Amino acid sequence: MESFGVEGESETLKAIFLPFISPSHLVPVVDIARIFAMHGVDVTIITTPANAAVFQGSIDRDASRGRSIRTHLVKLPQVPGLPEGVETINASTPMDIALKVSEALNLLEPQFRQIFHQLNPDFIVSDMFYPWSVDAAAELGIPRVIYVGGTYFAHCAMDSLERFEPHKKVDSEDESFLIPGLPYNLEMTRSQIPERFKTPTEFSYIMKKVKESEKKSYGSLFKSFYAFEGPYEELYRTIVGTKSWNVGPVSSWVNQDVSDKRSRGHGKEEEEGNGKAGWLAWLDSKKKGSVVYVCFGSMNNFPDTQLVEIAHGLEDCGHDFLWVVGKINEGEGRAFLEEFGKRVEASNKGCLIWGWAPQLLILDHPAVGGVMTHCGMNTVIETVDAGLPMVTWPLFAEQFFNERLLVDVLKIAVPIGAKKWKSWSDFGDEIMERGKIGDAIALLMGEGEECEEMRRRVKALSQEAKKAIQIGGSSYNSLKDVIQEMKSFKLEKLNPKDEKPLA
Ligand code: UDP
Repeated sequence: MESFGVEGESETLKAIFLPFISPSHLVPVVDIARIFAMHGVDVTIITTPANAAVFQGSIDRDASRGRSIRTHLVKLPQVPGLPEGVETINASTPMDIALKVSEALNLLEPQFRQIFHQLNPDFIVSDMFYPWSVDAAAELGIPRVIYVGGTYFAHCAMDSLERFEPHKKVDSEDESFLIPGLPYNLEMTRSQIPERFKTPTEFSYIMKKVKESEKKSYGSLFKSFYAFEGPYEELYRTIVGTKSWNVGPVSSWVNQDVSDKRSRGHGKEEEEGNGKAGWLAWLDSKKKGSVVYVCFGSMNNFPDTQLVEIAHGLEDCGHDFLWVVGKINEGEGRAFLEEFGKRVEASNKGCLIWGWAPQLLILDHPAVGGVMTHCGMNTVIETVDAGLPMVTWPLFAEQFFNERLLVDVLKIAVPIGAKKWKSWSDFGDEIMERGKIGDAIALLMGEGEECEEMRRRVKALSQEAKKAIQIGGSSYNSLKDVIQEMKSFKLEKLNPKDEKPLA
């Protein structure tokens, strides 16, 4: 792999990466850190032991490939009520425990700052949820680059909501309104936008701090690619007023090896409770493009009533399916799913994955023809990269905005018809009925001209995704650009000519 140098530079560029502790932030930030190491940067990732266990195998493989990359462990402080060993926020984390994890993480700030001093990096890449790190970097006289989760598209839309408040000008939750100032006329309803835009919440305060630190950062890193949302990338730069680099798709750039793909986000190489790659033998037995892959990310917990509707929707839809049910606690829902799993495995119509699925391997499998997703940004990019159309079922965070990009702008997805934004810890009362699930899958997997068009469009985007990370591609050039800027910054710090502001 190529190292990106600048004239007069001799020493290696040293970076610290500080990922957040939920899977959908941890996984892409570690991928980005590994991409930097792949291109000659000396990388240290700071995290806690349980989070490191999720990706250490890939770091060890990278080190054995000759890359200069390692993990620096910090112990999460004990706070009353936080069970020993709980260091992450995911679908199985109850809200009260998630708050304790955040409290413990906040206590680590002085230790993180101390490690920054000790390791003496040339720049820091930190997750958006560490707004203090912009000042910590400034104290060291080095740039802080912020990792911003989500799409440029969603960030531009949310900025417009904050600025123009179009949602306050409609009379009801289900009346649609136009989000102004975007390259595409984007319509949504008030019930689909995050709660914080309607009533101030604790999260509004956190996001205010994030936004302030984003503007003070040297620049931002995103994980999509130019052909996916180029006009919004440009608009974002104007809105925030800093530099920004889009360096995706990050998952396929750095996880080229089957071992990396299989263990990504989990550490263990097999999903739990499903035998040795039962899903793989099952997929191998299926025809090309015949299977719907159904997964709702790392943060979602459906109530039992919804699980029952999904099960029937899949069983009746006329297509084979691979469904990641995740970790389901003992109870009626689990008992129902166990019965359901036995039935569909006996009829050879479906396969269930209990626990964590090796999503990158599944998306690569030729038998998979379409994906039902909650529109989490990582899954969206991974699916586009794999060239697969989607059924969109947004639930929380910025997922309803992502749906509009996929359905209205890029026209590579079929909307299931979700109407209500939810908080990840509270599913609310909207239950998607089995008929709607089946109808959306029929459109996704159908043979009509419209379905074929959708498939052609997503295949073309997938080609663009592959080009973006090749030499001379848009993401490749962005990476080269950010590394060279960091090197120039370092050189100027070593041989100061004039004062240069950090942002
Ligand atoms: N993922 C996975 N296996 C699972 C669930 C999730 O590999 O069983 C990965 C998926 O590939 C993606 C990330 O976890 O990279 C989930 O992020 P996303 O933004 O899609 O959703 P979130 O977890 O934030 O809801």
